[in-house]
Amino acid sequence: LPKELAVADDLPKSRAASKVRSKSRAGELSIDDFDVGEALGEGSYSTVLEATLRKSGKKYAIKVLDKMHLAKKNKGFTVKIERAALIRLGRQHPGLISLYWTFQDEYSLYFVLDLATNGEMQSLLSRIGSLSLRCSQYYMAQMVDAIGDLKPENLLLDFFYRLKIADFGTAKVLNADFEAERFVGTAQYVAPELVVSNESSESSDLWALGCVLYQMISGRFAFSGLSEYLTLQKVKQVDYTFPEGFDEDAKDLVEKLLVRDPVQRLGSGGPGSLLSMQALRSHTFFNGVDWANLWTDSPPPIE
Ligand code: ATP
Repeated sequence: LPKELAVADDLPKSRAASKVRSKSRAGELSIDDFDVGEALGEGSYSTVLEATLRKSGKKYAIKVLDKMHLAKKNKGFTVKIERAALIRLGRQHPGLISLYWTFQDEYSLYFVLDLATNGEMQSLLSRIGSLSLRCSQYYMAQMVDAIGDLKPENLLLDFFYRLKIADFGTAKVLNADFEAERFVGTAQYVAPELVVSNESSESSDLWALGCVLYQMISGRFAFSGLSEYLTLQKVKQVDYTFPEGFDEDAKDLVEKLLVRDPVQRLGSGGPGSLLSMQALRSHTFFNGVDWANLWTDSPPPIE
């Protein structure tokens, strides 16, 4: 992977200055090296485009951030993005969306990412309602293996319908500064400790995992009120019920994840320590999962 990062460490002072800089980076990719296709989606700070790298014919998703728009929001943003990008370039996992290159021009920052051909898990769930137990087990196993930011909007599906987690999020980086603005829409997966004291830990992902499993199987949110406030009240009180017929093993796993105290959640390694994925993997819900071949075996048919 080309290691060079071309993310700005300052905002455009003048167009002339940034032109000089981009010209001096010999051999660096630019948006002109791609055939840009359709827009795949919009984020609060970005647009994601399908694009083909002309010299290889390989398809990517390119996330485009508008510098001026970002600059209005937060002057220190570029440094944070650069750091996040660096961290992300070093992390490779078949279940994570890879970041290949970053570059910029006068107006935009570009992040070249793995293309998740089949889009969002959230859309799949809206389309077919809920997932079979077999599919739910498959995606839960992939999530446990690649644990990241576990909201269904971040769970993308590749050409083969394997999971690709979009944990590289400029949104995530920027999130801290725009908490209030960005909170909308994610209340359903937010852990009680975030609601009560705005403290999150690795264990908050375990809570989200419980929420996602509940949703895949039942086709509805574990916690959902008429307003965001009421949803958060329910989260705080761990106030949810299972619909009739919810699989018993899945129910037991959800109950062990949706626990108010973060360190008591299945998979928590205790206060301040890393998650203990082995505890999760050994749960009966995962009986029959072939962990060694999780990313190479074909996925179960979507149903
Ligand atoms: P926000 O920035 O507001 O949190 P977001 O994370 O959805 O929103 P983006 O990362 O810009 O914002 O993504 C916008 C949309 O583009 C996503 O909702 C997703 O549907 C689609 N998308 C993002 N990354 C990819 C990808 N690598 N492959 C395919 N589609 C993608």
